Amino acid sequence: CGIVGYVGRTQDGTALDVVMEGLARLEYRGYDSAGVALIDGDHVETRKKSGKLANLRAELESHPLSGSSTGIGHTRWATHGGPTDENAHPHRGGADGKLALIHNGIIENFHSLKQGLVDEGVVFASETDTEVVAHLLAASYERTGDLTEAMRATVADLEGAFTLLAIHADQPDVVVGARRNSPLVVGLGDDANYLGSDVAAFIGHTRHALELAQDQIVTITPDGASVINFDGTPAEGKAYEVTWDAAA
Ligand code: GLU
Repeated sequence: CGIVGYVGRTQDGTALDVVMEGLARLEYRGYDSAGVALIDGDHVETRKKSGKLANLRAELESHPLSGSSTGIGHTRWATHGGPTDENAHPHRGGADGKLALIHNGIIENFHSLKQGLVDEGVVFASETDTEVVAHLLAASYERTGDLTEAMRATVADLEGAFTLLAIHADQPDVVVGARRNSPLVVGLGDDANYLGSDVAAFIGHTRHALELAQDQIVTITPDGASVINFDGTPAEGKAYEVTWDAAA
């Protein structure tokens, strides 16, 4: 339902603060669960809870996350699988705990994709359509060693509507996003960049934004944002200034 991504240069807990603030600003969209993932050394750490953001905050109090410069956050409006802690995003892919994924929308062909993965012995931790993508992406990462390339290979197999964001511990300064029939906006800051399902996700930090077209993948690092089409050809986002007054 709501999506935030952040990558910056600092290691001091900024990522978690930015992601939680973005989720609070996206609360108006409605949701039934919330979660975050941060890169922490050689793996990703996730915290997720059904219910309001207050539940996630309480979880973060009792199980704190250490400082990180890269993170993603999600508020969920359940379509596949009930509003439980397990079904909340982010979802992990692969067996090594290095990859986390969040998703807005619906993967229409998740059933057949899931069957293929189950046949290969993949064990699922949730009932969501989203987790299928997390495992496919992890397998693509194994083959390509690059999160952007892995995303490109993965979206080729997906039908439906999706905004996806992923992080991988082996590429700690990167957040990769993809969109089809579902919104994703880029926020450009100084020494930090942002992704959001709408500009509310990062309006507290920057008003420089990039609009993505349909079927595009964006890779953000602390230095900038690069965009490609699903077919791999280079693209450019359309730069604009957010004028909408959401300073409150
Ligand atoms: N279809 C996904 C799920 O049910 C994502 C729902 C959303 O857009 O929040 O987990």
